[in-house]
Amino acid sequence: MAACGSGENGLDSALFKQLQQGGIMANFADLSADERGIYFRFSSNNICKIMLYQARVQEVMFRSKGDPFVHLCGCKEALENLKNPDFIATISLNLRFFLGIYSHKVQTKFFNDKPLQICPQCAKVLEMYFNNDLRGFFGG
Ligand SMILES: [Zn+2]
Repeated sequence: MAACGSGENGLDSALFKQLQQGGIMANFADLSADERGIYFRFSSNNICKIMLYQARVQEVMFRSKGDPFVHLCGCKEALENLKNPDFIATISLNLRFFLGIYSHKVQTKFFNDKPLQICPQCAKVLEMYFNNDLRGFFGG
């Protein structure tokens, strides 16, 4: 497996840049997941690990449940939402994310650099296998 974003393929590196910047909507990404990670497949068949989170949240949900969690591996919520257009595949090692709050289809509020927590189940994997080291998680 080639390192993320490396290599000759220009399309891969453009997509990798997009993953690190705004992210890519889950339904436009080729995603898979297992108990150790969530994987983005490039058209070259290179694979890299990504984070998955709900970037579009309904205001009612946001008021009752608060901030969405960020997922690192195939927990129940991540597996259920690998194709959900409200979810975004991204890589943000400082754990800051774009978040849009919606009332039906209208965006009523947004945050550009919102700190979000890692989901409790995914956090356990990070602790167990990667010593709580996010960089190690994405590098390994
Ligand atoms: Zn999770």
